[in-house]
Amino acid sequence: MAKLTVRDLDVRGKRVLLRVDYNVPLEERDGQMVITDPTRIVATLPTLRLLMERCGRLVLAAHLGRPRGKPEPAMSLRPIGLKLHELLGKPVEFADDCTGAHAEKIAATLKDGGVALLENVRFHPGEEKNDPAFAEKLARLADVYVNDAFGAAHRAHASTEGVARIIARRGGPCAAGLLMERELKFLGEELENPARPFVVILGGAKVSDKIKVIDRLLEKADTILIGGAMAYTFKLAHGEKTGKSLVEPDHRRTALDAEAKARKRNVNFQLPVDVVVASPVNTGKLNKKGKPVFDYADVRTVKGDIPEDAEGFGIGPETAARYAEIIRGARTVLWNGPLGMFEDARFAEGTNVVARAVADATRRNGAKSIIGGGDSVKAINKAGLGDQVTFMSTGGGASLEFLEGAVLPGVATLSEK
Ligand code: ADP
Ligand code: MG
Repeated sequence: MAKLTVRDLDVRGKRVLLRVDYNVPLEERDGQMVITDPTRIVATLPTLRLLMERCGRLVLAAHLGRPRGKPEPAMSLRPIGLKLHELLGKPVEFADDCTGAHAEKIAATLKDGGVALLENVRFHPGEEKNDPAFAEKLARLADVYVNDAFGAAHRAHASTEGVARIIARRGGPCAAGLLMERELKFLGEELENPARPFVVILGGAKVSDKIKVIDRLLEKADTILIGGAMAYTFKLAHGEKTGKSLVEPDHRRTALDAEAKARKRNVNFQLPVDVVVASPVNTGKLNKKGKPVFDYADVRTVKGDIPEDAEGFGIGPETAARYAEIIRGARTVLWNGPLGMFEDARFAEGTNVVARAVADATRRNGAKSIIGGGDSVKAINKAGLGDQVTFMSTGGGASLEFLEGAVLPGVATLSEK
């Protein structure tokens, strides 16, 4: 079941409502909002250019931040319009309300290949409520719908779902943009029939966050490598001591069930054999959120039980070496969740060793390496290996839900080929 994409569209002279992910970080400098990282804007340029070359009339819709249904000047998309003007080298019209007479006039008077940006759709309460009346107003701006905002596709909002259904009902095509197309290809199609061995690396903070992904991937993977804080719940379930580590006692059964399923399906299911631990020391300071700040003393590697005063922060060197060896033999790698608290250099080594092995498999074996999850992408970039993997999802929460096998509302509404 392949989805229609922008490549399949004839948009000449048509108004295209293009949902993009322009939820970029902004900072106030001298009373002006400045974009500190334009990656997400730059990432949409291929889709924009393709539609412009094909003489579509582009009406861009996006959200920024959480204005909770009312106008919030600091969350205006105006600075993004200016940035787009600069990047495209042509003027971008701005509608200071995403619906209504002014937006409709702009959409109606756009020239072929012209671009307009609508103000933050979340300035209206109807956006997040997926209010049909609000979706109807958005639908007045377009003949064709394109969604290139994979990161927002797990939400059934008016600009990601409601408006697409209205346009489809009228017979207008609803297509995936180029970014969305890549996400569906790598997180979807490529993992349906992966080249084997297919090795899945799962880490992150909680078993409960990832159990649906584990469960689904147990049906596809040859090997699953577990790391991150999630590993300690498995340890606990085996009756080992976990000290002060982050564990979910209520999920011991979940962990054991996953292992049982792995045995039944002959999946090589690996848990860490050593752990980097440290002893947390309360500094007496509070962070911005008012929570106590800890420092970590006596960083060391342990096997078996984690001492009572210690907390686990990542996979140890022996585990990292074992995992790296397995990964180097893979033809497909999917990685979700860092293998330790990589934000702190003292606990990043295990994650970095594994990241290098993933890059090696990609380069030497021609393995397809696919990274999902916001923090996983950060970890790979921090290791300086972002350009040495096949695909890094921009999806965050959406990529996790997609990997769980959930039908994302923003994907479901796209037309079939
Ligand atoms: P992703 O965003 O890639 O899906 P998660 O959000 O599930 O990943 O998990 C990432 C977080 O898990 C990181 O902030 C990392 O610090 C934390 N983490 C990983 N391993 C540990 C650990 N052993 N102890 C505490 N936190 C950990
Ligand atoms: Mg995360």
